[in-house]
Parts: sequence; structure tokens; C-alpha cells
Amino acid sequence: NLPLAEVDPEIAAVLERELNRQRTYLEMIASENFVPVSVLQSQGSVLTNKYAEGYPGRRYYGGCEEVDVAESLAIERAKSLFGAEFANVQPHSGATANAAVLHAIARPGDTLLGLSLDHGGHLTHGMKINFSGRLFNIVAYGVNPETSLVDMDEVRRLALEHKPKVIIAGWSAYPRQLDFAAFRAIADEVGAYLWVDMAHFAGLVAAGVHPNPVPHAHVVSSTVHKTIGGPRSGFILTNDAELAKKINSAVFPGQQGGPLMHVIAAKATAFKIAASDEFKDRQERTLRGAAILAERLTRQDVKDAGIAVRSGGTDVHLVLVDLRDAAIDGKQAEDLLHEAHITVNRNAVPNDPRPPMVTSGLRIGTSALATRGFGDAEFTEVADVIALALQPGADIDALRARVDVLASAFPLYPGLAQ
Ligand code: PLP
Repeated sequence: NLPLAEVDPEIAAVLERELNRQRTYLEMIASENFVPVSVLQSQGSVLTNKYAEGYPGRRYYGGCEEVDVAESLAIERAKSLFGAEFANVQPHSGATANAAVLHAIARPGDTLLGLSLDHGGHLTHGMKINFSGRLFNIVAYGVNPETSLVDMDEVRRLALEHKPKVIIAGWSAYPRQLDFAAFRAIADEVGAYLWVDMAHFAGLVAAGVHPNPVPHAHVVSSTVHKTIGGPRSGFILTNDAELAKKINSAVFPGQQGGPLMHVIAAKATAFKIAASDEFKDRQERTLRGAAILAERLTRQDVKDAGIAVRSGGTDVHLVLVDLRDAAIDGKQAEDLLHEAHITVNRNAVPNDPRPPMVTSGLRIGTSALATRGFGDAEFTEVADVIALALQPGADIDALRARVDVLASAFPLYPGLAQ
């Protein structure tokens, strides 16, 4: 039982360098966050040793008394946080949660209606080479080219035409709230299930600063590691007792074997934190940060450089930047910001003329920086740095110096060695 640095110095060095990277760069990838040390502790704990196939009180292995406590806490906290009658907290990730949802409510060959990938949908909502696109008949709705908003008339028209088994509401890159009640009305009209994938905005929902899809959807899936800021993993909610049974058997034994009990314990902790006032304050700072970013990126000098903000603003934790008329593409913009010590990801914009490895857009999120402690003043400063960095002739060295001041003022994991 020697320490990692002795057993595997190469991996120990990766951990050390990665911690240093996270401390040095400003993290603005919209799907990322920083877990608290309490979550790191559970994930690096002896719970990783335990097999616990089954559910609390109904396991296929002995010695599950302690992990039963952890999983029951995670379930109860998830239910109370989102006002749901049932929760399954075993999915290893958002993608496996989504696979289990489809396993529970659809059969191969059924039709799914979801937001198209290149308009902000997720791989598991019907991308051709994803299991969803291979097993199901996919019909996609897009965003309106003028407003960049989901057009509910189009959703209804497609639903009436194709009579899907499942309508999917949820996104990976969309800056506005969806109208869950309108989605449900359409689902009821055509006899479809409404599945909401709140992977991105679940933390906002938990804090009460975004509408809750649970009362409207037949089933809701989510990740825990984006706006919630918990361990990398997924969960599923429903208020329908019949569906609950189907979801449990779809997750285990339908999709997974042994649950990751160290991650489930960490989920319990993350859900506990998500019920706190500190968490609500963090989500409010996240939203204000994104609004500030959108406002700074719609300034005249930025517009003059051909840079636009999709939908003109944001209601959530991210902003989508449209570079189709700018001097740089998505890849160049990502690289430039990297040089300035800001991490973002390039992202296709609707009707993007460039290939997916290049793209004409950026997705910029504020969750991780809000967790780091940023408030309005810091978000204004980082937004101004981004606005300048994307314009021709930017002095990246000077901008990096401004970013470094912000990073030093908000130390990440103080005292942590690796
Ligand atoms: N659903 C949505 C809407 C997502 O954005 C993502 C992650 O990007 C997922 C599901 C999948 O989550 P994971 O990466 O944990 O499989």
C-alpha cells in the first residue's frame, strides 16, 4: 500500500499537472465544474471496492449494509431536491442514464423526436452513429434560423406528422429555457412520452432559478457533474410508479452491472450541498455571469468584428457565440482563448458551414467560475477579456496577464497537493 507517487510516478505527475492546469486556467467549458473536496473524498474511498448489484434492501451481494445507507440517502435527496416521487441514482453517466430511459420507454424501431445535434441536441438524442440513432427512427426539430429559438409550432407539426413514441426536450448547447408545459401538451396530443434531459440545467432547477421539468415530463434524466457540480455520473426521475419499475430494471440489469458505490455516495453529498443557500447563491452568480457575458459580447466593437451571440442573450449558464461572420473560426477562437488561459470549447452553430472539428462557434459557460467564487465584477472582467481576445490584433499576452490576476485571486482547492 505505497502512495501513488511511489507506485506510479508518471500518473502521480499527471494528477499534479492537471491540478495545476485547473488552478491556472479559467474553466469556461459549460459542461464542467469543480467538485468540492467532500466529493473527492467519497470518490477516492473504499466504497470503490464494493459490489452491490440490485437496489437498497434487495442486493445480489452480501455486505451491502453501508452502501445501502449511501444509496438510500442519494435517492431521498434527489427526490426532495427535484420534487420527484422516484429516483434511480445508479447510472454511471448521462449517456447511460439516457440509454436506460430509452430502454424503459421505447423499443428499437420506434420513432424519437428530439433537438437535432447540430442545433444543440445531444448524441444520445439520435445522432446517427450513437446507439440512439442506430436503434431508433430519428426525427429532429431545429431552431428557428431568425430567432435561434426552438419553434414549438415546428415541434407540434413534426409530432403530428411522425407520431413519435418519445419526444425529447433537452440540450447540450442552447441558451434559453424550454417550455416544458407546451412540450407535454404536444406529447399528450400525439400519445408520446415526454422525456426531458436536464443534464445541463439541473443545478439551476435544484436552486429554483430555472423551471422544473419534473411536473411536466413522464421521465427526466440528468448528469450530476455539470451545473450541479457533483461527481461525473447520471440519475433518472419520474412521478409515474409504473415507469419507475421499468426504469429500475432498465438500469439494472438492463444496462449496467454493479453500481459505482463510491460515486453514488458522492452523489448523495452533492445533492445535500445542492439544497443549501450557498448553492442557490452560486447558481444565481452563474446566471448573472452568463448574462454579463452575453451583454459584453453584444457590444458594438464586438458586433463590428462580425461576432454574434445566438438568440441575443441567455437564460441559463452558457452563451453561444456565432463566428460565421468573424475573421476567426471556432477552432482558432478556442486556441486563442487557451493562450489567454481561458478554456472553452468550439461548438457548431445551427447551419454551420464549417466541419465539426473546426466549427463557427464557441460555447462558453459560467458554472465552474461561479463555483470558484466569481461574482459580477470578475465575470465582467473575464467577459471583457474574451470580447477583446476574439477581435483581430488582440494583445493576448496582456489579456493573459489579466486572466492570471483573476485566477490568483480565487485559488482552487487551497491546500490540496494532488
Ligand atoms: N445529455 C446531455 C444533454 C448532455 O449534454 C450530456 C453531456 O454532454 C449527456 C447527456 C451525457 O453525459 P455523459 O457525458 O455523462 O455521458
